[in-house]
Amino acid sequence: DPTAIIIIGMAGSGKTTLMQRLNAHLHAEKTPYYMVNLDPAVLETPFGAHIDIRDTVNYREVMKQYALGPNGGILTALNLFATRFEQVLGLIGKRVAGPTPPKYVLFDTPGQIEIFTWSASGQIITASLASAYPTVIVYVVDTVRCRNAVSFMSNMLYACSILYKMKLPLVLAFNKIDLAPCDFAQHWMDDLDSFTEALQKERSYMGTLAQSMALMLEEFYASLTAVGVSALSGEGMEPFFAAVDKARTEYESGYALELAKQK
Ligand code: GDP
Ligand code: MG
Repeated sequence: DPTAIIIIGMAGSGKTTLMQRLNAHLHAEKTPYYMVNLDPAVLETPFGAHIDIRDTVNYREVMKQYALGPNGGILTALNLFATRFEQVLGLIGKRVAGPTPPKYVLFDTPGQIEIFTWSASGQIITASLASAYPTVIVYVVDTVRCRNAVSFMSNMLYACSILYKMKLPLVLAFNKIDLAPCDFAQHWMDDLDSFTEALQKERSYMGTLAQSMALMLEEFYASLTAVGVSALSGEGMEPFFAAVDKARTEYESGYALELAKQK
């Protein structure tokens, strides 16, 4: 069975560019893969999407028809698409049963993270995917934008909330390492003291709250793998797929067990 990879992250973190990079990488490696675009508002899909939400729903038409703004249009388009997700699974299934079954099935999500992570449709898509295939979440972080300790903590808390909401193994991808190395992040994750020190230097007004959140994050870090990548230069592709493959084994040992318990 393929590994399903859902790419999420803040707007501008580089999800779509990463999809493009993964497309180029897997193509060059001759690894069979399958790509799905779930962002109805992307102007063009720079990777060759096998399934593109834009072929099914026109979010501008949806905006007009339901008198919605852009975010409402994107959300409604995703809702309409989610009602047909069985068909998407059918198409993937056909490919999986075919002569060149994909090793990875990759999903790009809408630019604004909450449209996918905090919507019923995002939940439906994620849950039905995860019950069909081993599924992992890749949380893309803009490394440049989280170089100060407070931004870093906010981003990690968001990632943590997603882990709890989606209950799937998570890979943290520190993107844009061509612009800024991510060793500071690795250091903060490995050594809590260095992180609280950095927080204090920024004179975080939250004081003890920040301290206890940092402590909580330590446990969160223990449950995930972090890698540095550059969607632009292509750096970090091997550690990226190693982390994804490791997350898949976590899905198989942990998540599958959870599912069995619920049944
Ligand atoms: P999305 O909203 O998460 O899909 O983000 P995009 O993929 O559209 O990227 C947002 C911006 O970041 C674009 O201008 C990209 O060219 C840029 N970008 C994405 N990945 C990288 C990277 O690895 N390095 C650099 N320097 N820029 C990047
Ligand atoms: Mg995008």
